[in-house]
Amino acid sequence: MKRAHVFLGPPGSGKGTQAKLLAERFALTHMSTGDILRDAVSKETEIGLRVKAVMAAGNLVDDDTVNGLVFARLQGKTTDVLFDGYPRTLQQAEALAEFLSSRGLELGLVVDIEVPEAALESRVVKRRVCSESSCGAIYHLDRKPPKTTGLCDLCGSPLKHRSDDTAEAFRSRMETFNATFKPLQAYYEGSPNYRLVDGSGTPDEVYEVVVKIFEERA
Ligand code: AMP
Repeated sequence: MKRAHVFLGPPGSGKGTQAKLLAERFALTHMSTGDILRDAVSKETEIGLRVKAVMAAGNLVDDDTVNGLVFARLQGKTTDVLFDGYPRTLQQAEALAEFLSSRGLELGLVVDIEVPEAALESRVVKRRVCSESSCGAIYHLDRKPPKTTGLCDLCGSPLKHRSDDTAEAFRSRMETFNATFKPLQAYYEGSPNYRLVDGSGTPDEVYEVVVKIFEERA
């Protein structure tokens, strides 16, 4: 691995959908801290048991735990990495910068997907995800429904509704986002790698824009 790219954006901005597509297209390792943490919760690991309630309430898991999980997974990676949902705090951004520079690695693109807050709740509440963790395809009941109700188009596994994709947990996740995002954005905004993207269009429209950003950089 030479570079780590970062996707920023509120819950429901589509960063997971876009990150998956881009990772496939450009042969990057997609690393979603939300997926890593949900996997730990479902396997009832020591970390999973500790973070379960925090995640269910829509709060952030502590920085040391998240940084530790991420850095352990970066060891020995040969392909560049595309982070989805990490960093989420200024402390995580600084820890990542330190990790990269101490190993002679670089920060790649920082893609910040902006979507008006009013559009986000429906995206999250109507989101369904593939229950097979190695697939993890993402659907929306209106914007991107599966071909067969309740089943993943790609692997046929049942779709599930994330426990933190309820209207109540969404509000708390938005509050957390609003409280932590500005300093994080300010940290990256001045970087030549930073790109602000309008995420209010359809997934295909947003994909066209982000692909161009990655192609220009390649
Ligand atoms: P996500 O799938 O990115 O929406 O993340 C789901 C949940 O996992 C978040 O609401 C947090 O509780 C937790 N989480 C994911 N990534 C991070 C992170 N970088 N820092 C702290 N908590 C995180």
